[in-house]
Amino acid sequence: MLSTNTHILFSEFEYHAPTTVNEVAELLSEYGDSARVMAGGTDLLVQMKMERRRPAHVISLQRINELHTITQNGALTIGAATAIRALDQYVTLNHPSLGARLESLSAACNLFSSVQIMHMATLGGNLCNASPAADTAPVLLTCDATVTIKSKTAEKTVPLADFFVGPGKTILGPNEFVTYIQIPLPAQNTGSAFRKISRVVADISQVCAAVTIVRDGNIVQDARIALGSVAPVPFCAEQARAALVGETFGPELAEHVGNLAAQEIKPISDVRATSAYRRSVAFVIVRDALMQAWDNCG
Ligand SMILES: Cc1cc2nc3c(=O)[nH]c(=O)nc-3n(C[C@H](O)[C@H](O)[C@H](O)COP(=O)(O)OP(=O)(O)OC[C@H]3O[C@@H](n4cnc5c(N)ncnc54)[C@H](O)[C@@H]3O)c2cc1C
Repeated sequence: MLSTNTHILFSEFEYHAPTTVNEVAELLSEYGDSARVMAGGTDLLVQMKMERRRPAHVISLQRINELHTITQNGALTIGAATAIRALDQYVTLNHPSLGARLESLSAACNLFSSVQIMHMATLGGNLCNASPAADTAPVLLTCDATVTIKSKTAEKTVPLADFFVGPGKTILGPNEFVTYIQIPLPAQNTGSAFRKISRVVADISQVCAAVTIVRDGNIVQDARIALGSVAPVPFCAEQARAALVGETFGPELAEHVGNLAAQEIKPISDVRATSAYRRSVAFVIVRDALMQAWDNCG
């Protein structure tokens, strides 16, 4: 196995460019384990250059129009091949009222590497790659997102919280792929925020955190807190959430809940950061995200 990201793809493969989701399902059913779906290719092509993956068949989603669409009907339904940049533009520019409630999603898209990567990388690819550091995963967990999974014979919708199994692993079988991601439209008194710490701006997170708060006067009516790069899968801080819901919000509560979240996570030391650093930073960014989400509630 190569340890560096060279510019050469060593293994030969057959490239498929279907135009419908049924064709993708058909191809996956035919080629199974020897095939790999490709959306933007910003993870897959790197893995292929490093020979971590050697698919004999690469099935591109780029020509499937419906997987690039975003619609609103009680929920925001996002085609899996929607680019991070397109998603940001939809939430921020086209729907200012939605943007205020989904500030965390917009912030995660904005902080996503470089402009080039934002244009190629997709939401579906970010989730299906199943990196514990995927920036959109904590945000979508705090939005109670679901994913629709299709194969030749079946279609099902599952909570995102059940989608991740371990680093690089999801519940997807070899014949399955993700078609859509759904986010229930947040109530008007909802505020959210996203914070990310990375070594340089255009890098994967050392730690990231997303918060959603539903506000009733001075009380936290409901909340979600999720973090990335702090556990084998994107992590929901349930103890911290329990300490927040039903309480009167203020800086002391944000500090206390930030501390609880930092205790609850299971960070490791790796090339990007030590576990101690991740824990210290988690406290700060959860506290700050809570304060900002509260302000964003309106
Ligand atoms: C320079 C650089 C900077 C980066 N910065 C960031 C960053 O700041 N934040 C961040 O979170 N990530 C970052 N990444 C990682 C990567 O860009 C993201 O994870 C991106 O969202 C992957 O999307 P993609 O469409 O390119 O996925 P692809 O590379 O096409 O696919 C990734 C994996 O998901 C599978 N897959 C894709 N779509 C589907 C589907 N619909 N159904 C089933 N399986 C599917 C593929 O088979 C593959 O295994 C960076 C990568 C690079 C190279």
